[in-house]
Amino acid sequence: MSPENKIVVVERLWECENTVRRFFSYYVPYKKLFVLDFSCAVLAALLELCFPLAVKLIVDKLLPGKDWGLIVAACVGLLVLYFASTGLQYIVTYWGHRLGINIEFDMRRQLFGHIQKLSFRFFDNNKTGHLMSRMTNDLFEIGEMAHHGPEDVFIAIMTLCGAFTMMLFINWKLACLTFLIVPLLIWLVVVCNMKLVKAAKRMFSDIADVNAQVEDSVTGIRVVQTFTNEEHEMGKFMTSNSNFREAKLRSYKIIAVSSSGMYLLMRLISLFVLICGAWFVVQGELSYGEFVGFLLLINIFFKPIEKINAFLESYPKGMAGFKRFIEIMDTEPDVADAPDAVKVDRVRGDIRFEKVTFGYEDHAKVLKNIDLSIRAGETVAFVGPSGAGKTTLCSLLPRFYEIESGSIAIDGLDIRKMKLSSLRQHIGIVQQDVFLFSGTLRDNIAYGKLHATDEEIWDAARRAKLEEFIRSLPLGLQTPVGERGVKLSGGQKQRLAIARMFLKNPPILILDEATSALDTETEAAIQQSLAELSAGRTTLVIAHRLATIRSADRIVVVTEEGVSEQGRHDDLVAAGGVYSRLHQAQFGS
Ligand code: ADP
Ligand code: MG
Repeated sequence: MSPENKIVVVERLWECENTVRRFFSYYVPYKKLFVLDFSCAVLAALLELCFPLAVKLIVDKLLPGKDWGLIVAACVGLLVLYFASTGLQYIVTYWGHRLGINIEFDMRRQLFGHIQKLSFRFFDNNKTGHLMSRMTNDLFEIGEMAHHGPEDVFIAIMTLCGAFTMMLFINWKLACLTFLIVPLLIWLVVVCNMKLVKAAKRMFSDIADVNAQVEDSVTGIRVVQTFTNEEHEMGKFMTSNSNFREAKLRSYKIIAVSSSGMYLLMRLISLFVLICGAWFVVQGELSYGEFVGFLLLINIFFKPIEKINAFLESYPKGMAGFKRFIEIMDTEPDVADAPDAVKVDRVRGDIRFEKVTFGYEDHAKVLKNIDLSIRAGETVAFVGPSGAGKTTLCSLLPRFYEIESGSIAIDGLDIRKMKLSSLRQHIGIVQQDVFLFSGTLRDNIAYGKLHATDEEIWDAARRAKLEEFIRSLPLGLQTPVGERGVKLSGGQKQRLAIARMFLKNPPILILDEATSALDTETEAAIQQSLAELSAGRTTLVIAHRLATIRSADRIVVVTEEGVSEQGRHDDLVAAGGVYSRLHQAQFGS
């Protein structure tokens, strides 16, 4: 082996050990449960080994004496053992699964918590369906492995050793003949397992694709049906569905080969032992009891091998799932609190961008050297061509993305020095498409302040001019909004977003084309509420229709080159630059 290959092997081993250690760390909170489950499983396995010995004893020692009473007593003893064994089986099945389920539960909680903390960039690049697949399917497989894994392997090895020792003890020649099969079995198991690991990985990514496809088509069902593209969606779905079927079929083919191969090998050796044993009995080397006991032991000897095989079927799935789990757990959020970040309780709302440069991809900068100061309480409007970077500029302020160079400060304090939670507490955003959670109107308004009283909620609804509408509904605030608010009109959703913002009451407000999707009449009505909302707050307005921003304290024109001009409406129109051209385009000269 070349030195490079050696290094690769060592790295792989280290990684594997690391993964296994991490996996076992999830057992720590359930030490007691593990010990209970494990000891019961060990006891059950030991009991299992007693049965052939008891049979051997009955046949060899009690049968020749023809003492019926003793034989019945021995059978009663066996009955007691069977009951004990059943009790242990119950504990292992129920409490063992409890262990697995608890571990699965913990991992799911951790994963959900971690995903909540990941940054926008992560979600830009990952499909929701894939993430859901990890939360459900992958973790289920891990739970199964967590329960069966260590216990089954340990017990299998123990039973194997115990059975072999007893077989040696009964007749060493026959035992050695039986043992000849073990290398063959190991070869079969290892080869199939390696193939299975690959198949399991494929299967997981394919089911994730199926989930992603369902998620996409269902969320976009309105678009799908409007374009009558159901067939097209079906086609896409069938591709991922077929891939999943193929991957699953492949894995079951491997499982079928391994289990039938194993079955054949075990039956062959049983037959072989039957012939050899019979020969030994004829030769007087083996008693009848020993012969029967040995045959029973062979079955016990095979059981753990079957168990190990079953484990090796679940292990690749569990491990593949676990690796996908830690992959996400190891993804650090791009944006996180610095160690010395401080909590800021009050903010006036002075904002300063200094030489800010940012791009979503390394090679393409969306914003270059942006310099901009906004005074507390000022309303600044951003206008410019679509794609110039207005939304991007505003999303840097709550640190949804990390800037590459330069700095952004609020009240003179760099936003990277503030705790993210307190920074985002002080910023409110109303966007063009309002995201509503399925739930009631009340739930959605209260999203701006989770423990708001009814009074506060009604007050916010009133200020957002939503009160009348809510009062007209039979269920009032308890009216469900439908999934993502499908039961509300665009204007109503926008008002709901405004009500949310009144409740949150942030000193800095970002209105990103909040009314662009509405008709002019609704827009004019909502503009009023927005004006009321922005009073006394530092407000950054991005507007498509210039009529809505005429009264802004300052208008900043953003183009591909950056901030190209800024000033009051009249001055900019008079200056005859980009803004005046935009203005002319919308209103004519
Ligand atoms: P505006 O709001 O001025 O219309 P945006 O800030 O939305 O423009 O977009 C600026 C540029 O950044 C566009 O070229 C757009 O394609 C790109 N962009 C916007 N959001 C993302 C994103 N999440 N990932 C990658 N590129 C993006
Ligand atoms: Mg935009």
